[in-house]
Formats: sequence, C-alpha cells, structure tokens
Amino acid sequence: WDGEYEVVIIGSGFAGLAAAVEAKHKGAKDVVIFEKMGVYGGNSTLNAGQACFAGTDLQKKLGIKDSADLMVKDQLKSGRGVASESLLRHSAELGPYVYQMTKDCGCVYRDFIITTGGTSATRSHQVVERSGSGFIQPMLKTARKMGVETQIRHKFEHLIHDKKGRVIGVNIRKGYHFGFEDSGELINIKAKRGVIIATGGFGYNISLRQAQDPTLTAEVGCTNAKGATGDGLIEMLAAGATPVHLAHIQSGPWASPDEGGFGYGAGFSLYNFPHSIAIDRNTGQRFMNEIADRKTRADLELQRRDQNGNPNPALLIAPKHEAKNDPSMAKVLKYNVAWEFDSVEAIAKHFDVPLQPLKQQIADWNSYVDKGEDPQFGKRMNAGRGIKLTAPFIVQRLWPKVHYCQGGIQINTKAEVLAAKTGKPIPGLFAAGEVTGGIHGVSRLGGCSTPECLAFGVTAARSIMEA
Ligand code: ADP
Repeated sequence: WDGEYEVVIIGSGFAGLAAAVEAKHKGAKDVVIFEKMGVYGGNSTLNAGQACFAGTDLQKKLGIKDSADLMVKDQLKSGRGVASESLLRHSAELGPYVYQMTKDCGCVYRDFIITTGGTSATRSHQVVERSGSGFIQPMLKTARKMGVETQIRHKFEHLIHDKKGRVIGVNIRKGYHFGFEDSGELINIKAKRGVIIATGGFGYNISLRQAQDPTLTAEVGCTNAKGATGDGLIEMLAAGATPVHLAHIQSGPWASPDEGGFGYGAGFSLYNFPHSIAIDRNTGQRFMNEIADRKTRADLELQRRDQNGNPNPALLIAPKHEAKNDPSMAKVLKYNVAWEFDSVEAIAKHFDVPLQPLKQQIADWNSYVDKGEDPQFGKRMNAGRGIKLTAPFIVQRLWPKVHYCQGGIQINTKAEVLAAKTGKPIPGLFAAGEVTGGIHGVSRLGGCSTPECLAFGVTAARSIMEA
C-alpha cells in the first residue's frame, strides 16, 4: 500500500463533502477526499444554490406549512410511479438536520424561500451566493478544519477487493490532468473502514448518455462540470453493483441557448418563472404551466419549432419591476442572455411574434393574476404573489440542456451499494449523490438534488462508521 485512511471518499461535491464532515462528527481519525479535477466542488458548484427542505425554522418564520410527507408526495408524483419512496423519505426526513449542518459549516441562506416547479409548498432555501459554491466553499473549509485531508488531481481508477469481495482500497492516479488519461502515477490506498463513491453523474460522457437516450447527441448542450463522466458508476458496475434507471436523464427547462453551460439564465428564469409567462413564438401564446415539474416543461419547450422543424426557443417574458429584485437580472442583461423591451410591440417585432395574440395573452394572464387562478394551465398563482406583467419587460429565450442523471447505482437507506447478483450490500462499498440512481424516478424536482446528495453523504458516513 502507498497510504492508508480510515475513510476514503471519492469526489468533492455535495455528497463527498457532507460525508467527510459527518465522518469527522462521528469520530473518524483519518478521512481523505480524492478529487480528479484541479478544483473542488464538481457539478455541485454549478447550480443556483437552492435546496428543498421541509420543516425548517425559516419556513415556520415565514408561515409556510410543510412536512417531509408532503415533500415525498410531490417527488413521487414527479417520479411518475418509479421513484423510490423509502430513499425519498429517508432524504426528506434528514432535511432539517442537513439544513442545520450546512448552517453550522457557515453556509448563509437568504431570508426568503423560493417556489420551484412541481412543489405544493414553498421550500427551496437558497444560499446568498445564489450558487452551489455557497455550500461548497464553507463545507470544504469546515472539513479541512476538522482534519479532513483533501487532494485535487487524484483520479480514482479502480476499487481493490480482498479475496471475499470486500472493498479494501482504491487505485488512484496521483498528479492526474483531466484530458490526459495516462497522466500521473498509479498508487494504491488502503481504506480501513471502506470507500464512499461520490463521483457525480455522467452528463458529459456523450457516448454513455447517448447509449441510454439516443436523442442526447453531442449537439445537445450540457450544464455539467466537465468531470461528470461517470467514472464511479462504471467502476461500481464492474464490481457487480446494480444499475438503475440509467436512461432517465433530465434536461433543465430554465436553460438559455444564448450562453454555454449552466450560465446565468438558469438563475434568472428560476426566480422569475412564478410571475412570468413562457410564450411560443409562432402563436404568441403560453404553452405550459411555467412552474410544472422539470420534465413536463423541458418536453414542451423542445416541441417549439419553426416551419422547417428547427428549434425555435420559447420566450420567458418577465416584468422588470419584479425581476429587478433579484441580482440575476443584472447578470443576464450584462451577458446578453436576456434583453429589455419597453413595450409588447417591441418584443413582437424583435422576435417575430404575432402581436395581437401576444397582447391578448398578456391581458388574459393579468386577469388570472387578479383572480388568483390560472384556467389556462392551472399554475399555482400564490407563488406569483399577485404580480402583474407590465412594461418594461425582460425577455430570455428557453432551450433545455442536459442537467442531471436520475439513474445510477442502486443503494439502500444506509447508502450501501447493492450487488446485482444478490441484491445484498457489497461489503466496504458506499455511494451517495448523483452517482446513485432510482431515487427520483423519471423526473427530479428542482432543488431536490442538493438535499439528497447531502443527506446520503451524511448517511454513508454514519454507516461506514458503524460498520
Ligand atoms: P454530487 O452532486 O453527487 O456530490 P458532483 O458532480 O458535484 O456530485 O461531484 C462529484 C465530484 O467527483 C466532481 O468534483 C468530480 O470531478 C469528481 N470525480 C468524478 N470522477 C472522479 C474520479 N474518477 N476520481 C476522483 N474524483 C472524481
């Protein structure tokens, strides 16, 4: 062996960091995180910094009634019958603990809560940075303060087993440079208690994702960090783990085609969907509930086409008087991801939208705001807080990008990895976060990956310390 630790964690996103902090809480002496990239945080830094928790002190303060039960119910509905109720419940019930844990690490939440699609209670807590780095940086600092060793450019290559099949270590490429697959020196690290795989999804492994869903070609944009190539998934499959739901790959309905990657548009549209309308450019009319679940919206957005069948991205039209209350507006205007218009006529002219139907749609929408009811698409109107759509407007285009892999490796509520042959845990092997699958089913609700990654990171650490 070239080194040994009590707990070995692969990946430094939400799941890996939560596992590290909790392992220390539970008394682990030596804990290491190996991260293959040159920076920590992976995909977990690339989001709007939102996490759905049910039953927090902030919800109570704001008079929001919610419960783990209700959260699970919403997620089961979005999962369309194949989500895992036991895993969802485990994660939702750990929510308030995880929320407090992030605060103890120094994460700072905004003093209001956001409504995300498909939820029946307002529960998306957002860090003040409005980005996942608002979780990652304080958690990384805390982990290090607690004595966790962290290493970048250390790529996990293989699991090492003993004769009975127990995972006893990992093979690592030390000094690895992403894109140069043979770079670095191969070393073997012993894991005395076991290994926690938290390597994230495979959204950037084009051949693997296209094999699951042939529509997700290289031309389809992706919000992920470049390191989301499915390494941990592939190695655990080789070790006999159970694959689950690999074809359920989610596209983000809030993405903009006018920038690369996750970008600024997601933050802008997330904030504005509740009180804005999404318009089809051919008809000048709405075509969806702007706060439906992600799959419902992404599928409908992808149907927006011109006469030749080419993509014709929908328009999200937001009222500036409300949009300006969130810092995302300045970003999208600065980087040409959205534009300001002082009249409906100006929007119609610029985007070649039929004027009269658009005017009528906006008038109809404003009457729904008055009534507090959306007869067109049944949108939950209290989320828009009675906000009228009036000029000036801020307009962003919408076109989905690959965002999240619902599929992955099957775990149980102890975050143990289950073998395909026996359905039983593979000794010494734990997994958490996007590398695991089956929790959310067909479609994951917005703001529900962060709490799940954190909760199962915590769970993996507890289990490994009990093992
Ligand atoms: P999650 O949200 O599930 O925690 P993330 O995608 O945020 O997942 O984080 C996973 C991390 O794991 C990323 O930083 C990624 O670079 C890292 N990673 C992926 N594959 C490997 C590997 N083979 N060795 C080490 N780190 C890896």
